[in-house]
Amino acid sequence: MKQADHARRIEAHAELFREGEAGETAYIIESGRVEISLLRDGGKVVIAELGPGSLVGEMALIDAGTRLATATALEETHVATIHRDQLETALGNADPVIKLFLRVLLERFQEASSRLHGGGGAPRTTRATYHEDLDRAVEDLRLRDELRDALARREFVLYYQPILELVSGRIAGYEALIRWQHPERGLVGPFEFIGFAEKTGLIEEIGAWVLEEGSAAAARLAASCDAEVPFVTLNVSARQLEAEDFIDRAGASLDASGVDPGTIKFEVTESLLLGDPERAASQLAQVKMLGVRLALDDFGTGYSSLSYLHRFPFDTLKIDRSFVTTMLRSSDSMEIVRCVLGMAQGLMLDVVAEGIENEDELSLLADLGCDYGQGYHFALPLPEAEAFALLKS
Ligand code: C2E
Ligand code: MG
Ligand code: MG
Repeated sequence: MKQADHARRIEAHAELFREGEAGETAYIIESGRVEISLLRDGGKVVIAELGPGSLVGEMALIDAGTRLATATALEETHVATIHRDQLETALGNADPVIKLFLRVLLERFQEASSRLHGGGGAPRTTRATYHEDLDRAVEDLRLRDELRDALARREFVLYYQPILELVSGRIAGYEALIRWQHPERGLVGPFEFIGFAEKTGLIEEIGAWVLEEGSAAAARLAASCDAEVPFVTLNVSARQLEAEDFIDRAGASLDASGVDPGTIKFEVTESLLLGDPERAASQLAQVKMLGVRLALDDFGTGYSSLSYLHRFPFDTLKIDRSFVTTMLRSSDSMEIVRCVLGMAQGLMLDVVAEGIENEDELSLLADLGCDYGQGYHFALPLPEAEAFALLKS
């Protein structure tokens, strides 16, 4: 039987590796027993006997030096192998803080073990990588602290970008977009911190603030309106929505603001639908029970297919800006826009085109039957007072 690439069988009394050899592989013992020994003054000194679940030869993963001991199977032994490259790849993708933590631990271990073996004690990890990791870790820790402080000091603000009904030109709603009013850097856009907040979990707190503030603003808007009340859309991250208390917290924010939940729309991106679509469908159904509407943001950029959209309770599709920007010169983009509009109609979803920047894009979208649009052609995201004042003009 052919063994998997990562599996190896070692016969009784055979060596897995020998002291002084070059090595780039570590082993996890799956079954059997392995003896670790050193050659000292011409004689063999056994330093350990390892069984299933033990890691052997791990120093080879840390630096490409020579084996510091000999590993011999005491009986037929099966091991899984881990190559140095695998660890490097995994470490390369790791969170900078975790990476630094591991590097430091590994380096200390290496120094100690090198002293034990009479070596000079000079670390063999290259200092350059170490410094890069350190810088990145420190930067991440600083950003984490700054974001926490920003929440406490209420430095986040929501800007509002109008969403227009294309045929009439009336403002149908607003999208709330977060900004960070940084004490030194000025207004910082969400691309600089939302991804990081999602990765670190801080998005739950930031997102809770967005729900609170956005619902309160929507209630203020409704109170100042005598005609039809525009909707307000709030961006909700997948990680935020997946938190156990999301529904309770969102419900509490809506209640506290006194807003009519029917005027609130949550925007989620396709990433939510990718992992476990069944679970996403049930989470979204619970969200709908709050009385809010649901939009699928940045549609077309992920992997979701129009064919299974009917499984989710969306009310709105937002066509990503990349299609709107290119549709006049790319027939592919144009076909995608046309196709999305056709299917959305069949699924009774309304469609918002994002990133409309000129008259040509606007008239083409209107001709194709797109209901709503937002973009710099109409208005930038604006502070609340300015944005809501547009309703009166
Ligand atoms: P998004 O939800 O797709 O928001 C639309 C983005 O397109 C906004 O960028 C908006 O300013 C920008 N935009 C609108 N019209 C135009 C246009 O005509 N041309 C161009 N070039 N851009 C246009 P912004 O405000 O920088 O937000 C970026 C992303 O950050 C948002 O993309 C959203 O994914 C995320 N985000 C913003 N606010 C929040 C929030 O409160 N919570 C969460 N979880 N994410 C947020
Ligand atoms: Mg959005
Ligand atoms: Mg979008």
